[in-house]
Amino acid sequence: MRELKELGLEDAEVDEKGYVLATLPGNTADPAPAIGFIAHMDTSPDCSAEKVRPHIIRNYPGGDILLNKERHIVLAVKDFPELEKYRGQDLITTDGTTLLGADDKAGIAEIITAVSYLLKHPEIKHGPIRIGFTPDEEIGRGTNHFDVAKFGAHFAYTIDGGELGELETENFNAASATFTVHGKSVHPGSAKNKMINSLLIAREIISYFPENETPAATEGYEGFYHLHQMNGSVEKTVLRYLIRDHDKNL
Ligand SMILES: [Zn+2]
Repeated sequence: MRELKELGLEDAEVDEKGYVLATLPGNTADPAPAIGFIAHMDTSPDCSAEKVRPHIIRNYPGGDILLNKERHIVLAVKDFPELEKYRGQDLITTDGTTLLGADDKAGIAEIITAVSYLLKHPEIKHGPIRIGFTPDEEIGRGTNHFDVAKFGAHFAYTIDGGELGELETENFNAASATFTVHGKSVHPGSAKNKMINSLLIAREIISYFPENETPAATEGYEGFYHLHQMNGSVEKTVLRYLIRDHDKNL
């Protein structure tokens, strides 16, 4: 919000839920419809995003990128073939030990950069541009408190992870499931018919999921069950799943 205000977007505000809204007023003689640009501030909770040390690779020559020498963490072209498209460009990567958080700090940076560019180039005519930065996208709640009427855009785009020029007009249905298995811990020497190992029950639950419906085995409109966390001991095991499907009936 402060950055938007410093640019001169006087109405920039943050509400009690953490949503930031602002307007770049239109500069056309005749009124034009308002367009909205949205990005989310939160980043994935899967990996630490603290003490992020970004690496800037100038004029990327192509090929694998060694993110971290000590730990030998490599961004390999065979895993991310899209890398080759960015030869000759400047890349920003993580150092391999933390999440860069480009999803979706990059979206915010892009929108603010676009606003500052438009302010410096009044010869580019545009209607009112509404800006919305939301929290909690990664946990599926980014839209919960988004005031569509107040935002007041005739149409809007979310700027999020994806290739340059890519436009998505649809999305999947998202849900999550948590299994908490309670076992019974008994000394292994006298455990016969007494011990209930929650880890083994969790393994059994996992085996009931269709083996080929995982993110690593699906693409396009295919849905999946993504086991993304598993913590346990004999006494208690917790499994966390992300569930995705384009068709809500499947
Ligand atoms: Zn995102």
